[in-house]
Amino acid sequence: MQKIILLPLILLAFPALGQVPSLDIWEVHDMDRPQPRIVTPGELTSSPAPSDAMVLFDGTNFDHWTHANGTPVDWHLGDGYMEVKPGTGIIKTKRSFGDVQLHIEWATPNSGEGQDSGNSGVYLMSTYEVQVLNSFDNETYPDGQAASLYGQYPPLVNASRPPLEWQSYDIIFRRPHFEENGSLKQPARVTVFHNGVLVQDNVILTGPTGHQSRPPYKAHEDALPLFLQDHNEPTRFRNIWIRDLNSDM
Ligand code: MG
Repeated sequence: MQKIILLPLILLAFPALGQVPSLDIWEVHDMDRPQPRIVTPGELTSSPAPSDAMVLFDGTNFDHWTHANGTPVDWHLGDGYMEVKPGTGIIKTKRSFGDVQLHIEWATPNSGEGQDSGNSGVYLMSTYEVQVLNSFDNETYPDGQAASLYGQYPPLVNASRPPLEWQSYDIIFRRPHFEENGSLKQPARVTVFHNGVLVQDNVILTGPTGHQSRPPYKAHEDALPLFLQDHNEPTRFRNIWIRDLNSDM
């Protein structure tokens, strides 16, 4: 087990940040990292979009989405939900976003194990993944389970529902800021509620999502599309809405 304490460095680099979460940085996908405690969430309640939200998916069409290359979405459109059609690739929003509040509901199939059980993902700014996975009786590396910030932060607790049941994420995302020369001015921060339970508490992302790596930040636009991952499993999504937190600031 290797553990590097980066807290002093990060505090020096970003003294203006008020709330700093635990920054004991484990090796990426470290199986020695503690498995989050299991919490049984309450019943899923309806979360209709508030008046200033943009409804990205109401269960009836893919109007706000395309594949990565701009072609029409080839995922399955079911009765009130969409389902990943394995092999067709990610889908992304036509609009771009920076700071957002996002609500999204999802359900995994009842098949596969480890990272191959309903794996998908919510990629903020096409870059920073909140993992979607069946994590009910399905152990994997903690920084890759449901509601993890993939490769960086396990959820505070495991609030997963069983496969086939609808689950929800409510995500608050604050984008990174970059200097003119491309260096990092302020890292991205993320808060996530999984099935109504706080699982990521304003954590500071170390950079873009990587697999078996934690790549450093790379300067990008102030707004980029949201995308949903095709990881070759027929995971479903419904009731997706987003509030642009920049428009009132
Ligand atoms: Mg994923």
